[in-house]
Amino acid sequence: MRLALLSLLVAALLPAQNPDWSAPFPAHTIAGNLHYIGTKDLACYLITTPQGHILINTGLADSVPLMRASAKKLGFDLKDVKILLTMQAHYDHVAAFAEIRKLSGAKVYATDGDAPYLEDGGKSDPLVLAFADQDFSFKPVKVDRRLKDGDTVALGGAEVKVISMPGHTRGAAGYSVNGVLVVNVPSVVVPLIGNKRYPNIVEDYEATFTKLKQLQPKIWVAGHGSQYDLAAKHAKGSFEDPAGYTTTIANAEKAFREKLAREKASKGVR
Ligand SMILES: [Zn+2]
Repeated sequence: MRLALLSLLVAALLPAQNPDWSAPFPAHTIAGNLHYIGTKDLACYLITTPQGHILINTGLADSVPLMRASAKKLGFDLKDVKILLTMQAHYDHVAAFAEIRKLSGAKVYATDGDAPYLEDGGKSDPLVLAFADQDFSFKPVKVDRRLKDGDTVALGGAEVKVISMPGHTRGAAGYSVNGVLVVNVPSVVVPLIGNKRYPNIVEDYEATFTKLKQLQPKIWVAGHGSQYDLAAKHAKGSFEDPAGYTTTIANAEKAFREKLAREKASKGVR
């Protein structure tokens, strides 16, 4: 009761946030030892092994109780997380890194591009500049290992391949696990033209779209449940959707090109 009142008060102080970010969603298994323990929209993936677990994304700072309950339903404990990964160092995916590291002692692995943001709590991130009126910072964490494109993260027989997908953040990444593509859909949230904190942002998006269009996953998931129709696929009991992948990437590229054209027009750039 006290907790409910407190969250109401906090909600009133913060800018409107997608309620699906904090709504519970049934924990489930996607393929083999790859499980979903995120909220209705903030995807968190637990890869379990007899020697501890790998966790991709953590949601918001207050997402931990929901994640803990989801892990428990599947028979696992967040305390056994050994390695923390993210798809993008934005607060809606990494704000609970510090707490999960504290309760599990997990090591944090991050790409060269995103490691600085994790270590300064997002303060050097272009997102913070672009939304100066809102606080998108989070509790910083030290990065134990820097990842490069093509690296493999191995634990207890599980292997997670790192696929860099820069643009949305400088170090945005996806992963390949058990033949499932965990894709960071390249949506645009910061300026593309004249972005002093990220001068090569357009080139990065271009390279990422070229790369993503070459991938042909049968099963794919993403950083937000809404990006891959999580609720519908979970209800259907199947995550196979190769055509949906092609459409999703094509739509993201269209949105990127339209934003780029609008920015160029408004700034008189050719
Ligand atoms: Zn983001």
